[in-house]
Amino acid sequence: MGISRILIANRGEIALRIHRAAHEMGIETVAVHSTADADAMHVRLADHAVCIGPPPASDSYLNHAAIISAAEIAHADAIHPGYGFLSENAKFAEIVEAHGIKWIGPKPEHIVTMGDKVMAKKTAGELGLPLVPGSDGAIEDPVEAARIAEEIGYPVIIKAASGGGGRGMKVCNSPDQLETLMQQAGSEAKAAFGDATVYLEKYLGNPRHIEFQVFGDGNGDAIHLGERDCSLQRRHQKVLEEAPSPVLSAEERHRMGEVCADAMRKMAYRGAGTIEFLWEDGDFYFIEMNTRLQVEHPVTEMITGLDLVREQIRIADGKPLSVTQEDLRFTGHAIECRINAEDPWTFAPSPGKVTHYHPAGGMHVRVDSGLYAGYSIPPYYDSMIAKLIVYGRNREGCIMRLRRALEEMVVEGVKTSIPLHQELLRQPDVLNGDYSIKWLEEWLAERA
Ligand code: ADP
Repeated sequence: MGISRILIANRGEIALRIHRAAHEMGIETVAVHSTADADAMHVRLADHAVCIGPPPASDSYLNHAAIISAAEIAHADAIHPGYGFLSENAKFAEIVEAHGIKWIGPKPEHIVTMGDKVMAKKTAGELGLPLVPGSDGAIEDPVEAARIAEEIGYPVIIKAASGGGGRGMKVCNSPDQLETLMQQAGSEAKAAFGDATVYLEKYLGNPRHIEFQVFGDGNGDAIHLGERDCSLQRRHQKVLEEAPSPVLSAEERHRMGEVCADAMRKMAYRGAGTIEFLWEDGDFYFIEMNTRLQVEHPVTEMITGLDLVREQIRIADGKPLSVTQEDLRFTGHAIECRINAEDPWTFAPSPGKVTHYHPAGGMHVRVDSGLYAGYSIPPYYDSMIAKLIVYGRNREGCIMRLRRALEEMVVEGVKTSIPLHQELLRQPDVLNGDYSIKWLEEWLAERA
């Protein structure tokens, strides 16, 4: 028997996104929510809703027992974790499967492997992905570290094996700082992630962030869906993403995409995944793999015509991939703007009541958001309130349409990052696709 009722273990726009795919497949949905989210759009639209706890995520959206109980009570036969929260928690995935509930995500052992950066890098190397030069795994001995740093050349970056979200990293410019920074990185990692393990790699000066979307059926078949360029970042948080990358040729896409798909075939990877690289002067360097759906997945959907959540559900249900690599076509260009409830220039969070809301519309314009007029954005969670995704036949047309769509978006009552996006889309470097992961912060610093 196939999946007939999915519990959505998430909130906000992604909960709504999953609900939409499920309903389009004739599958019922169960929303779980904290007391702060009782009035959320996905809760209103879901077929069933279960309150799982008070506002803090640790008591609700991260509460294993409450979510499993909700699944049992509501007779859900599958759980989709979305992104963030429990999506990369292998223990939770195992508990779900142990309860005879389908986990709409990768095999737990692959979540474990890719969740530990040292293990992930080792595995990636064995699977044939190009790596950033660095220590061969974890490093403790400062003398050994100094030798490696000398060999790969300064600056180097010290990273926490359990790090995430851009935290637990230190750039080291010279040998005399190395030992101190390693100690600092270790104790900070211990405090933040409960694990002091660090490793060393070459610090790339001015790279782009380019990631490949992959999909596996869990039995050794896998495809890639091309890349996304997510170089416009602030504090390692992506602000605007596009597909395809302005710097890759069709040949490079095909070559690197195949390297990624092949790695997934060897792993017998199941479901959606993203292999992230830094890219500099034509070379790719693996940094990590995310074993889940990503925020920016819609840009890939726009240029491939494939519904990634539908694909995830099909695979969790034991079906094969719905397309072959040969059938996939990359057409046109798509850009996503992440719209946050925050001051566009100071980035101070701006939760509160949305008095007026009017999403952009028209041809090739998509808004993924749980907003509505009268909705109160709670202060407890991520500040992203909407994603504006626009498609064009080429990059230039896409940007023209995106500017037009941003003009139409109305969100009143709270501050949003819409003005930041409008300003960004007037910058010659952005228009030319000429930016690295450093660009946005440097531009903001100059502007201030
Ligand atoms: P996290 O899991 O915390 O997101 P990542 O390994 O993906 O950690 O790195 C996050 C960001 O840190 C990258 O997008 C990039 O901006 C920067 N970064 C990571 N490794 C390097 C490196 N070797 N050289 C330069 N920048 C790096």
